[in-house]
Amino acid sequence: MSAGCAICGRPMTPEYRPFCSKRCADVDLQRWLSGGYAIPAGEDDETDSPPMTENDEP
Ligand SMILES: [Zn+2]
Repeated sequence: MSAGCAICGRPMTPEYRPFCSKRCADVDLQRWLSGGYAIPAGEDDETDSPPMTENDEP
């Protein structure tokens, strides 16, 4: 199993696992609802590098 949040890779919170927060859970949910969770082919492995989200860092 992965050791971190499925969205941003940070340590997951038991309450929101496999995510770190409700925000990431929402992101995943939105992906699921809008895109059918289609995994784009030919993209970099996002499990290794955290996605570039805007204003994700303080
Ligand atoms: Zn997260």
